[in-house]
Amino acid sequence: MSADEILAAYTWMVGDCFRCAKVEVATTQIGEIDTPAGGRYEVRACEACVLAMEGERRAWAERSGLDYAPGDLGAA
Ligand SMILES: [Zn+2]
Repeated sequence: MSADEILAAYTWMVGDCFRCAKVEVATTQIGEIDTPAGGRYEVRACEACVLAMEGERRAWAERSGLDYAPGDLGAA
């Protein structure tokens, strides 16, 4: 599976990456955090970080004998 195929599994918008702290880059939402004050914070990641995290998921799936499919980072 190519990087393009993995990235195509997500929807991209300009934003800030939570993982590497890049700002104003192409990001996809991978989670949400509700703050104690009642706000909602979007957790977004850039292309490089999504590929890194998908790589970890794929390695884990292979070790565990499970099928791997990209696109589930925000679905946990
Ligand atoms: Zn990043």
